[in-house]
Amino acid sequence: MKHYIIGMTGGIGSGKSTVAKMFADLGACVVDTDAISHQLTGPHGGAMGEIEAKFGEEFINDDGSLNRQAMRDYVFNHPPARKKLEAILHGRIREAVNKVIEQATEPYILLVVPLLIEVGTYRPIISRVLVVDCEESAQIERASLRPDMNPDAVRAIMAAQTDRKTRLRVADDVIDNSGSLSLLEPVVKQLDQRYRHLALHRSQEEI
Ligand code: ADP
Repeated sequence: MKHYIIGMTGGIGSGKSTVAKMFADLGACVVDTDAISHQLTGPHGGAMGEIEAKFGEEFINDDGSLNRQAMRDYVFNHPPARKKLEAILHGRIREAVNKVIEQATEPYILLVVPLLIEVGTYRPIISRVLVVDCEESAQIERASLRPDMNPDAVRAIMAAQTDRKTRLRVADDVIDNSGSLSLLEPVVKQLDQRYRHLALHRSQEEI
């Protein structure tokens, strides 16, 4: 049976990880490309050998993981370096995604791709686009809470991402995460029911 895949995206700090966890708790198969990317660049991760060979050991921490701050600063100042890094990571991420999808037995798959709109890689395999949205001021406030972030860094990342309007335009479904976390849960529950229905309906059509 072909898997029913929903692509989920949203700007930095919009609440993607929070929402993904809620879907996972409800029984969805969540595949998070950011988490895969972190594994690949974690201590002696699958991409670290090539990163060290192509960028140099100044980007490698003592534990064999990527020095994210150094790399972030570098790619902001050297745009071609971003492409070089992406070339190392994208194929490996896609391969890991495929592996998880192949083995999934859950009713549907939520594929979390921060750059879903910007990068076309995943469009052919997804049936719907779900956007997590919130006010930009809330994005900055929430994302700045991360230990290695500050408001200026968040703003710079936001400026490099697709703007809110474009993202909302391509959305099939939108989760408004401007309010409190308690408001989020019922919205996710309702969408989970909808996706289960759509996945079932589609697979029945295909039989
Ligand atoms: P993303 O994965 O899109 O970057 P996260 O899910 O990590 O965003 O959320 C960013 C931060 O904001 C986290 O610390 C999270 O706990 C917090 N957060 C998410 N949604 C809300 C909300 N509705 N109200 C308050 N804090 C939130």
